[in-house]
Amino acid sequence: MPNSTSSASSHDAAALAGRTDAVALTDRTEDRPVYVIGGGPGGLATAAALRARGVRAVVVEKSDRVGASWRGHYDRLHLHTTRRWSALPGLKMPRKFGRWVGRDDVVRYLEKYTEHHALEVVTGVEVTRVDPAPDGSGDWQLTATGGRVLRGRAVVVATGFNHTPRIPDWPGRDTFTGELLHAAAYRNPAPYAEKDVLVVGIGNTGAEIAADLAEGGASAVRIAIRTAPHIVRRSTAGWPAQATGILVRRLPVRLVDRAGALLAKVAVPDLTDRGLPRPATGLYSRVREGAIPVQDVGLIDAVKTGRVTPVATVASFDKDTVVLADGTRLTPDAVIAATGYDRALEPLLGHLDVLDGRGRPVTHGGRSPKGAPGLYFTGFTNPISGMLREMALDAEKIAKRVARAPR
Ligand SMILES: Cc1cc2nc3c(=O)[nH]c(=O)nc-3n(C[C@H](O)[C@H](O)[C@H](O)COP(=O)(O)OP(=O)(O)OC[C@H]3O[C@@H](n4cnc5c(N)ncnc54)[C@H](O)[C@@H]3O)c2cc1C
Repeated sequence: MPNSTSSASSHDAAALAGRTDAVALTDRTEDRPVYVIGGGPGGLATAAALRARGVRAVVVEKSDRVGASWRGHYDRLHLHTTRRWSALPGLKMPRKFGRWVGRDDVVRYLEKYTEHHALEVVTGVEVTRVDPAPDGSGDWQLTATGGRVLRGRAVVVATGFNHTPRIPDWPGRDTFTGELLHAAAYRNPAPYAEKDVLVVGIGNTGAEIAADLAEGGASAVRIAIRTAPHIVRRSTAGWPAQATGILVRRLPVRLVDRAGALLAKVAVPDLTDRGLPRPATGLYSRVREGAIPVQDVGLIDAVKTGRVTPVATVASFDKDTVVLADGTRLTPDAVIAATGYDRALEPLLGHLDVLDGRGRPVTHGGRSPKGAPGLYFTGFTNPISGMLREMALDAEKIAKRVARAPR
C-alpha cells in the first residue's frame, strides 16, 4: 500500500493510490511536480533544494520509509566523511552525533530532514520506467508499480550508486556448501564467532567487515584481494582525509598521485610482508578508475597483528572449497562478498540513451543528457571529496536549473 507523508494534490493522490484507468491516473494539473525517484540522501536533498526555490517536488520511494539503504547497513558503520561535510542543504547534523556519525544517527537525520523541510514523500511505490511524455510537451512520464502513470515537469533519478548487490559469477559458485552472502546482508560479527570467514574484496566495506569479524571473535579472517588498495588514515592529527580530498580534487592527477605516495609512506606502515603491498597505481589515478581509497577503521592494525590475513583473489568454488587465483585452496565456513553493487538503471532508463558503457548516467547535477532536457541525476559519482557532499552540491545545482526552466 503506498503511503504519502504529505499533502499531494488530488490528481497525484489518485495516481499514486494506484487507480487502474490510465487516463485518470495521469496528473494533468498545471502544477506538474518534479518527481524525484528515491528517498535516500540524494533524493531528499534535491527535493528540499527544489522546495526552497518554490518548486513542488514529490519523492517516490519504493520501500516503506526514507533512508532505506542506511537502515540496512552493518551495525558498526560510521560515516567516513565528517558530520559537517555530510549534511544536506538546509539542515545541519546535530553536534551530539559526533564527528563521525553512526548509522542510526544518519537514519535519524534523514527522518528529521524530511520532516524539517516538509517534503512530500510517497513510499511503497517503485518507478519501473521513465519516458518522455507521449504528447511531445517536454514533460516526463513515470510508470510505477500498480499501473500508476505519473507526469512531471522534470525527473530526478536518485535511485542510488549502491542499488543492487553484485556477486561475481564465480565458476562453481552454486556448488559451494558453506555460507555465501553479499556484504549488504552482513550486520555484525555475532553469527561468525569461532568461524573461519573469507571476505572477498578490499574496498571500504570489505576492509571494515574484515576488521569487525577479527574484533568480534571469528576464528580466522582472510581477505581476498584482486588489486592492492590505497589505504589512508580517516584523520591525521585531527585533519580529516576528506578535507585533503576536497582540496586536491581539481589538482593534476600526477601531482596528487605523487603527494599521496609520499603521505602513505609516512602515515601507513608497509604491510607487504603481511600480504598487503603498496599499490602500483597512484591514488588519484585509481580514483579516476572508480576506486576510492580505503579509510582505515581497524584494518591496518588487524593485518599488522595477523588477525586478518590478505590472500589472493577468488578464482572458483568447488563444493566446500574456495580456490584462489594463486592455487591456494581454502575451506571457510562463510564467504562474504564485498564485491560492490550495480546501478541497475537499464530497466528504468536503458531505452533513453542516457547511460554510458558502465551503465552510469552521462551527466549529473544541473546538466541533463543531450536530448533529454528535464532529466537529472544525483548520486552516481563517487568523488574523493565525499558522496554526501557531492549530492548536497548537486541538489542545489539541479534545483537552480529546474527553477529557471520555462514551465
Ligand atoms: C557502506 C556505505 C558507507 C558509506 N559511507 C559514506 C560516507 O561516509 N560518506 C559519504 O559521503 N558517502 C558514503 N556512502 C555513499 C553514499 O553517500 C550513500 O550510499 C548514500 O546513501 C547514497 O545516497 P543516494 O540517495 O544516492 O542512494 P540511496 O541511499 O541508496 O537511496 C536510494 C533510494 O532509492 C530507492 N529506490 C531505488 N530504486 C527505486 C525505484 N525504482 N523507485 C523508487 N525508489 C527507488 C531506494 O529504496 C533507496 O531508498 C556510503 C555508502 C555505503 C554503501
